[in-house]
Amino acid sequence: MKPTEEAPDVCGLLRSAGLRVTGPRVAVLGVLQAHPHSTAESVATRARRLAGPVSTQTVYDVLHACTGAGIVRKLVPAGSAARYETRVGDNHHHLVCRSCGVTVDVDCAVGAAPCLTPSNDWGFTIDEAEVVFWGQCHTCQNSPTTPRTTTTEVQA
Ligand SMILES: [Zn+2]
Ligand SMILES: [Zn+2]
Ligand SMILES: [Zn+2]
Repeated sequence: MKPTEEAPDVCGLLRSAGLRVTGPRVAVLGVLQAHPHSTAESVATRARRLAGPVSTQTVYDVLHACTGAGIVRKLVPAGSAARYETRVGDNHHHLVCRSCGVTVDVDCAVGAAPCLTPSNDWGFTIDEAEVVFWGQCHTCQNSPTTPRTTTTEVQA
């Protein structure tokens, strides 16, 4: 599946989730389809360019409603602001650059959630394994001025 091809109709997406079609919702989903893994702040900035005055609080409300309805996925890489995307339900994972924060999709090698079976599930019913690969993106690897390591990490 190529997410850049034939973006699903945003209005249909909202209706299928039982959400009313509103200007801000259409703008936010449109932004997320064009710019997956955006933070709420950058969604708000782009949504304003598309749809005129949309408050950041409205954008948060839309993201919250769409995440709750299952048409937007929220990911929170450690130490980073929450990011949002409209690619849901396929258990894909993410590669995150430690230096610049760029986030890209990687397909799950296993395909079904959870792709990691813990050695001990402690009686939990598991429906998701959140896998984040951390490293340096190509651009940052070739940029001598970018710090290569973070020192703020605490080993649990
Ligand atoms: Zn980078
Ligand atoms: Zn993704
Ligand atoms: Zn996987």
